[in-house]
Amino acid sequence: MAQMLEGKTALILGVANRWSLAYAIARAFVREDANVILTYQGDRQKQTVEELAAELKVHQVLPCDVTQDAQVDALASRLKDQGTVLNAVVHGIAFANREDLSRAFVETSRSGFALAQDVSVYSLVAVARATAPLMAARDHNGNPGGGSLTTLTYLGSTRVVENYNVMGVAKAALEASVRYLAADLGPSNIRVNAISAGAVKTTSARGIRDFSKMLEGGAKMAPLRRNTDPAEVADTAVFLASDLGRGVTGNVIYVDAGAHIMGFALPASTS
Ligand code: NAP
Repeated sequence: MAQMLEGKTALILGVANRWSLAYAIARAFVREDANVILTYQGDRQKQTVEELAAELKVHQVLPCDVTQDAQVDALASRLKDQGTVLNAVVHGIAFANREDLSRAFVETSRSGFALAQDVSVYSLVAVARATAPLMAARDHNGNPGGGSLTTLTYLGSTRVVENYNVMGVAKAALEASVRYLAADLGPSNIRVNAISAGAVKTTSARGIRDFSKMLEGGAKMAPLRRNTDPAEVADTAVFLASDLGRGVTGNVIYVDAGAHIMGFALPASTS
């Protein structure tokens, strides 16, 4: 039986280690027969990402620090020069200073705010601009071009989630960017969507104060009464990158065991 991403090539940014949501997505893409290309931020991460790539049987790993325009452009040039036609791009990147994820939001510094927006939001715009020409091209079989760009967001964009702070504001801007990019790139048949994942213990998430309480509380209040499995996020990314997702763009799709629909819980009855 044909796999869902057979014949498709995907660029996945944001694998830091095997707990990364982007790693779960890369695994699912490989399972579905996609040709996957991974990136790493800098020399410090190179070896780890190369080892994970070898395990996944991913054959290409390229550098890309998304805060450096030259590196984003070099990545796109490299792919163009080697004749890569992209069908999907996954953006699984975010960063904020640890202190901005632990004290009151009102204390956020100008530089901390700008940093979170640069790495976590502007990078999507930069990656979209650089990779859109590689998706818009016709493929080797002359099929019409187009593709799917997917990013990862969190409920803290629309609700106040304690300690998420500057990252919540960044995710609000990210989701707005998804809509503007979807409008810009739709005529080239490029779809842009975000998956709003429930809380998952990853390196970035550990930077949020009391993250384990967030996990515990989330599992109690979610309709499915459990936390999110990274594989569930990955399978939704597969759907978006596949032909089954061909009519879906400009959306935020929640994969969070239903947590986003809940209001507040009543305190346990004492009577
Ligand atoms: P993660 O494993 O720490 O992934 C974050 C990635 O961003 C890392 O690979 C990190 O690379 C990369 N990154 C940071 N700055 C970069 C830069 N300048 N250039 C290139 N890459 C850079 O954590 P994650 O939880 O999987 O996060 C992936 C995405 O999912 C993020 O957008 C996050 O906000 C979102 N998300 C996470 C959760 C959750 O609960 N975990 C829930 C909803 C949404 P290095 O580590 O090499 O710096």
